[in-house]
Amino acid sequence: MIDNDPAPTRQRSDPSLRTGEAASTLVLTGFMGVGKTTVGRALAARLQRPFVDLDQRIAALTGRDIPALFAEGEATFRAAEAAALRGLPSDQPLVIATGGGTLIGRANQRLLDGATLVCLDAPLSLLQTRLGNDGQRPLAAEAQRLYAERRAAYQRLPLHVDVAGRTVAEIVAEIVGLRPSSPRPPSPNTGRGGRFSFHVPTPHGEPYPILIGNGIGAEVGAHLAAWGVERAALITDQNVGPLWGESVRHDILAAGLPTTRLTMAAGEVHKTQETVATLYDGMAAAAVARGDGVVALGGGVVGDVAGFVAATWMRGLRRVVQMPTTLLAMVDASVGGKTGVDHPAGKNLIGAFRFPDLVLIDPEFLTTLPDAELRNGMAEVIKHGVIADPALFDTVLAHKGPLLDLLTADFLARAVQVKVEIVTRDPFERGERALLNLGHTFAHGYELVSGYAISHGEAVAMGMVTAARLSERLGMAVSGLAGRIAGTLEHVGLPTAWHGPDSADALWAAMQQDKKRTAAGLRFVLPRDIGDCVLTEAGAVSRADVAAVLCEGVGV
Ligand code: ADP
Ligand code: ZN
Repeated sequence: MIDNDPAPTRQRSDPSLRTGEAASTLVLTGFMGVGKTTVGRALAARLQRPFVDLDQRIAALTGRDIPALFAEGEATFRAAEAAALRGLPSDQPLVIATGGGTLIGRANQRLLDGATLVCLDAPLSLLQTRLGNDGQRPLAAEAQRLYAERRAAYQRLPLHVDVAGRTVAEIVAEIVGLRPSSPRPPSPNTGRGGRFSFHVPTPHGEPYPILIGNGIGAEVGAHLAAWGVERAALITDQNVGPLWGESVRHDILAAGLPTTRLTMAAGEVHKTQETVATLYDGMAAAAVARGDGVVALGGGVVGDVAGFVAATWMRGLRRVVQMPTTLLAMVDASVGGKTGVDHPAGKNLIGAFRFPDLVLIDPEFLTTLPDAELRNGMAEVIKHGVIADPALFDTVLAHKGPLLDLLTADFLARAVQVKVEIVTRDPFERGERALLNLGHTFAHGYELVSGYAISHGEAVAMGMVTAARLSERLGMAVSGLAGRIAGTLEHVGLPTAWHGPDSADALWAAMQQDKKRTAAGLRFVLPRDIGDCVLTEAGAVSRADVAAVLCEGVGV
């Protein structure tokens, strides 16, 4: 509802809130009780702009009050909220006070594109005191839970103003003085950029799309709704959930779909049947039915486990969206459709093929990924360069500055493209696809003898250099190839040689457990140059040649 409060005293609107030519709409958000409506009304008066209280507007548009809408389910309320945002007048700058959940999802933030979003902050203790006076508000424990769930999404908002111990007039004065673009430099992972799409063929069905772009994850709800899905289960892990879970859940809710969040323990050690059983319990409790959708939000582990749950719950759910949040999962697991869990007898022994219906690759998720995990994924990116894309390889080596800045939508699309093209040419894994195994036969040996103390990316990095050294030794590679590959891996902080105490014999024995080994022996992917790799025949490379390169460091 637009509320044209006449300003008590006439003041000129402040030019510091202008972006470009026109003053931008100001949107206030923050936890319940923080004072969004009070501050918003005073701010509108000060700036002589119309004031919109979003809750009032939702009530006016639907003809219902907020508790009644909520009583029908959070999705009903969130859909009405998104509709109210969509219908806001855009011909003049406004001041809008939103609800505490309005800007948790990025889809709603995008509806306010061009507006200045300001988050009002207060400690939970202050909010609880304020909320305590009002019988309608949720209990303290519930408030605490919500506060924790929403914190990360609030923190990512660009502008913050503390309200604790300050008068409304002081808060208004600070907001009026804010510089809309100041606090955070624009990052290539969060600013607007290109959008890219690929279609990955599947052996027996329709190809599925991979969409890549900044903020593209915010569209998940719209895709599910367009398919006619009626509810969703969002599966994530204990690290990703607190950072992105609520944001993505709100993006699905805003499309009007009831959404249950299921959280698994993080890490490969939890890629187990026990985790699957717990998730089944969650699916049952939430009454997830066959026509519903699963959204997997996380790294490769979440993708594998959630994909497997989706493939098996009620003999398979209708729609699966993969939203990879690690670099590794974005450039590798997103192309393929393998799902499953480990068994004490070995990795990935239990599983199913379940191609996703959609993959959304959003570089913004990488902004919270630890550096070690970024490096881990870079090993597969560099691998793609060595297999088929010399320009991609050179781009990595030429990059200066934080790794995150390299990982734009454009760059990720190029890295994904290598795998998509190979899988397109070899959908049944009969030939060329084996090239994607570059470095992996050695990597499996290094992983195994280290007792998985080294990460997959580190193992692949060392494995690629070892493969190049083998290729050089056999006279197949251009000179200096191993050194070049090692140089680029080192440039992003990856190890290039195995320095463990284990002998070549132990490594050789470990490598024999490679799943891709045939009775005739191991096959190796050997690089001849950057962008040019070949696959050897089984057993064609002698044990002596392999042993000679296994433990040898390389001077760069
Ligand atoms: P992968 O096989 O893709 O490397 P995991 O699923 O084991 O995957 O993820 C690696 C680790 O990174 C896990 O601890 C996971 O919880 C965490 N993680 C994944 N994505 C993010 C993210 N975007 N921000 C922070 N941590 C993340
Ligand atoms: Zn790999």
